[in-house]
Amino acid sequence: MNDILLMLPGPTTVHPRVLSAMSKAVVNHRGAKYGEILTETTELMSKVFQTPNNSYLLTGSGTAAMEAGIANTVAPGEKMLNVVGGKFGERFMKIAQAHGIDTQELAVEWGTAVTPEAVKEALDADEDIKAVSVIHNETSTGVAAPIEEIGKVVKNYDALYIVDTVSSLGGDYVDVEKFGIDVCLTGSQKCLAAPPGMAAITLSDDAWAAVEKIETNTFYLDLKAARKSGDKVPPQTPYTPSVSLTYAMNEALKMVMEEGIDERVARHHKAAKASVAAVKALGLELFADEAVSSATVTAVKMPEGITDDEFRGTTRDKYGVELAGGQDHLKGNIFRIGHMGNISYKELTQTFAAIGMTLKGLGVIDDAGAGVASIAESYL
Ligand SMILES: *Cc1c(COP(=O)(O)O)cnc(C)c1O
Repeated sequence: MNDILLMLPGPTTVHPRVLSAMSKAVVNHRGAKYGEILTETTELMSKVFQTPNNSYLLTGSGTAAMEAGIANTVAPGEKMLNVVGGKFGERFMKIAQAHGIDTQELAVEWGTAVTPEAVKEALDADEDIKAVSVIHNETSTGVAAPIEEIGKVVKNYDALYIVDTVSSLGGDYVDVEKFGIDVCLTGSQKCLAAPPGMAAITLSDDAWAAVEKIETNTFYLDLKAARKSGDKVPPQTPYTPSVSLTYAMNEALKMVMEEGIDERVARHHKAAKASVAAVKALGLELFADEAVSSATVTAVKMPEGITDDEFRGTTRDKYGVELAGGQDHLKGNIFRIGHMGNISYKELTQTFAAIGMTLKGLGVIDDAGAGVASIAESYL
């Protein structure tokens, strides 16, 4: 039994209810039984996205939905604005480039958030921009973008609004309908707390109109095919889905609805606030601009004089808490605490105990308990 506490920005700890749902018999994916479970799961998905439109499940990780979201709605040669303030913003742009889209980067300093004004300026500067991509929660830097306000800007232009909510849906406030999001996508293993391997996507009428017009060069991720199969009675997927992961998503989404979306988001915000306070109590420095720091992951500067291996190796191997490192040029310079999914003060207490003991052991701090004391105060 793996008793390491995963405090990663995905995968997150999967609840036993979800694990046991996955152990149900695998059924024929072309039969009525699967049709029932698929219908129920996609309906739950649309509720969590907060959209009246249909949602589609894709067997693949979050990146599959990122690719589906772009490759089906923006044609090769068309112009697209990509907000890039971290690893995942970069990925969106690279996916667009792989599909021959004429990308335009709106570069944002890593650790800060894009502003609606900057998006407006970029759209004003080029009226041929057909789509805008934004990462809601830039997991690599621990920053949340103001997607509601950006939606109000994009609405005034003839451009699709494509938003990655892989590490925010079910953890931060996402309302696809209200925010005017045309393409919204997510993954199974982050705030929804299902195992990795499944993604979901929903499109507005405008986005579907774009899909109709363009000849996509994807095959596995062709959303016209997904829609055609999804419209069958009973609904299906074009190719064999992960039946077991569909059960898992179904159960995980039921758990989201039982908790209540607003309650779940509030729980994540509370965990984020408590984590930020505990980081400061330990004398550590946040990486992200605190005003825009994420509800689901906290990025922290690595203290001087210790290595990533020493630090994260000790929290994991000695104290049983797995934290995430930095990516790209942030590797070794930051560590990240994922507080998404089914977590509360219990997990945060254990996490900050591990961080405090590790830092004291490495001679960085004197008071190993300052983080834990702070968590206790936050939750009192
Ligand atoms: C995790 C993540 C993804 C997708 O990653 P996969 O490894 O393909 O599941 C995409 N965007 C963001 C913001 C993420 O955090």
